[in-house]
Amino acid sequence: MVMFSDKEEFKTAFKNQLEEKLGKTIDTASDFDTYRALGSLIREKINKDWLKTNQEYKTNKTKQVYYFSMEFLMGRLLGNNLLNLNVLSLVEEGLADLGLSLSELEKKESDAGLGNGGLGRLAACFLDSLASLELAGHGYGLRYRYGMFDQHIIDGKQVEFPDYWLTKEFIWEVRRPEDAIEVRFGGQVSSRRDKDGKLHFKYENYEPIQAVPYDVPVVGYHNDTVNTLRLWSAEPSVEDTMKKAEKEGEFGHFLTYKRSLESISDFLYPDDSTEDGKRLRLKQEYFLVSSGVQSIVRSFERLGLPWSSFPEKVALHINDTHPALVIPELMRILMDEKGIGWEEAWEITQASVSYTNHTTLSEALESWPVGLVRSLLPRIFMIINEINERFCQALWKTYPGDFSRIADLAIIADGQVKMAHLSIVGSHSINGVAKLHTDILKEREMKRFYNTFPERFNNKTNGITHRRWLMHANRPLSSLITEAIGDEWVQEPKQLNKLMERKDDLSFLDRLHEIKQENKVDFSNWIKDTQGISVDPDSIFDVHIKRLHGYKRQLLNALHIMHLYNELKSDPTLDIVPRTFFFGAKAAPSYHFAKKVIQLINRIASVVNNDPDVKDYIKVVFIPNYSVSIAERIIPSSNVSEQISMATKEASGTGNMKFMMNGALTLGTMDGANVEIHDLVGNDNIYIFGLRSEEVWDYYRNGSYSSKAVYENDERVRHTLDQLIHYSPFSRGETDFQEIYDALLTYNDEYFVLKDFASYLLAQKKVSQDYQRKRQWNLKSLVNISQSGIFSSDRTIQEYARDIWDLQRVKTLK
Ligand SMILES: *Cc1c(COP(=O)(O)O)cnc(C)c1O
Repeated sequence: MVMFSDKEEFKTAFKNQLEEKLGKTIDTASDFDTYRALGSLIREKINKDWLKTNQEYKTNKTKQVYYFSMEFLMGRLLGNNLLNLNVLSLVEEGLADLGLSLSELEKKESDAGLGNGGLGRLAACFLDSLASLELAGHGYGLRYRYGMFDQHIIDGKQVEFPDYWLTKEFIWEVRRPEDAIEVRFGGQVSSRRDKDGKLHFKYENYEPIQAVPYDVPVVGYHNDTVNTLRLWSAEPSVEDTMKKAEKEGEFGHFLTYKRSLESISDFLYPDDSTEDGKRLRLKQEYFLVSSGVQSIVRSFERLGLPWSSFPEKVALHINDTHPALVIPELMRILMDEKGIGWEEAWEITQASVSYTNHTTLSEALESWPVGLVRSLLPRIFMIINEINERFCQALWKTYPGDFSRIADLAIIADGQVKMAHLSIVGSHSINGVAKLHTDILKEREMKRFYNTFPERFNNKTNGITHRRWLMHANRPLSSLITEAIGDEWVQEPKQLNKLMERKDDLSFLDRLHEIKQENKVDFSNWIKDTQGISVDPDSIFDVHIKRLHGYKRQLLNALHIMHLYNELKSDPTLDIVPRTFFFGAKAAPSYHFAKKVIQLINRIASVVNNDPDVKDYIKVVFIPNYSVSIAERIIPSSNVSEQISMATKEASGTGNMKFMMNGALTLGTMDGANVEIHDLVGNDNIYIFGLRSEEVWDYYRNGSYSSKAVYENDERVRHTLDQLIHYSPFSRGETDFQEIYDALLTYNDEYFVLKDFASYLLAQKKVSQDYQRKRQWNLKSLVNISQSGIFSSDRTIQEYARDIWDLQRVKTLK
């Protein structure tokens, strides 16, 4: 659809919106008002295409995929929507005529931070790709009242503040009370046989909760497709609350009751690396699943097709195991509400559901105590139990007498419901998120399941949307690319490899360098404005941004900086290439060790940045509140991308892909998708160091790693670690970092930080040397950009659509 025929039409529409909707004029409107007017105008304009897309799906009975995820880390939507709607320049110029700056208005939007990190951001990138590829795919999630916490650094430590993102209206959402669903918790189930011997289940004394959907349009790139992100919000059902209020005759009770129901969609659990098993979290999971599956079944029924064709029209995808209850929930609806028998319901369920595994960290694998599941979800528990019984019986037939195998694979064991097992048994496809990760699943973590169901396992290497992470985040680079190779790469990102034609074009390489330099200057100004720290745009921008976790080894980076500091202090004439180390990371509020690492990084920053002997050579900046918007700011101005996880622990990583696409060079271990980046760019264009996965497993097997031995044999390690606990500029004579010291030495360094210290130093030296040879560096950067197209989430989504979901591209009518 043509949204505005020209700039003038836009200006008129915008002014009307401001006056009619907000009762303001350009002179009296605040920046937030103008953002709201612009956003709501665009949202209204999207409506027509949104309606049309939905009608087409209905009329053509198009197969649709529903991507269930407890997290959607969307970030801001305005800029990306304008880009996808093909009105970015028009709006920008129109606003400029009115004396307004689009980029300033964009900043008024709060990040929709409904996710922790990689998993939630992946879901967001997938939505963009689905719509842009004209695939009928929607996101189903929760409308958390508080998203990812707001991180402040106070006295060098992380302090969490609630993220009040909804207090400023979220202009993109549309509340749809007419599509509300009732979700039921607790109560009792009884069964009776009818005269034909058929079992019927009666569910009583449950607690009903209204799930009200809020729909957010997901706009495809230049194609008129508008899919939906449906976010469910928990509300008391009006009728029930009235009854309750009358019964108890007291308004105070009513309010407490209302609050307790609403608490289901109150806040996002801020930990993505450990499973904390809280009752409210299980409620959230079932709330999402039940409202989602009920509403999907409702739409399917409107098509008037037989139940057997459900899997031909519906694909249910679960993003990790958090929504695994879609399996028993769909079974429940098909059997209890639609009267379908077990076998048929099971066939339909399995053929519809597919599952992505995101981790091999055992502490992150979900399991729920049987007692909790039984009391909170009695009918669902019965169904899980039956799935388990039948599965174990089938195993017994194939492996008679093999108790250990059956105990190993069972869905319910040791009083726990194992969500990964449920997900594998109940789906037709299980995928890992990078080649190495999928191999680890098949050969190690899920070996017995792989042997049982080899045809279900497959790899889908993650991706990122190049529209947000290159076209929108780095417009100058994006324009340069188009100047050089035309704009086909936008629709087909693999064509970025045409950039290799320019590898000998020195003036092109210089342009590439200038753009990076300009981005670095912009970013430096922003750092100066927001943090008051001056950084040198000519220094190497070395960036480590991701969740803070032991396995991601921010500590290794920090120890290296301490070592550099020591070297500079002992030899002030040392010839070192100036560097600025940037960090951005949130720690889960209960993850004590991770918070200590944040404190250490901030301590190092205060020492290094204030020491006249070193501050012109190295600087350390901890950017608070790492989020999608901050990632978009920093990645285009990065030279070095720190991807230094302990091999085997990072399933894929997607940060690594964003950096590569923006011309930063990866400094990393052979882990996750780094392996695939390495294979694409070759040894000369990446800095690989440290233990390989096989070596890590060897150490695990023979238990021969001793961090103390490293400490004793490497004077640099010893000196640095001692500075954590003995009097030093870093410890300031206090015991703040004793815990880090103990983790590394007393507890034998779980993540092999010290083992990889020496090789990390060497790799860092090589980075410094290479950076001085500008042309070669720029060429390496070019190679990285040119090979990054494969990491567009368009490629990933095409693979899911073809191999897992069996989705065809729909051509939307113009
Ligand atoms: C991409 C992204 C991540 C994931 O980063 P990794 O380096 O892959 O862990 C986390 N948080 C935000 C805000 C992101 O944009």
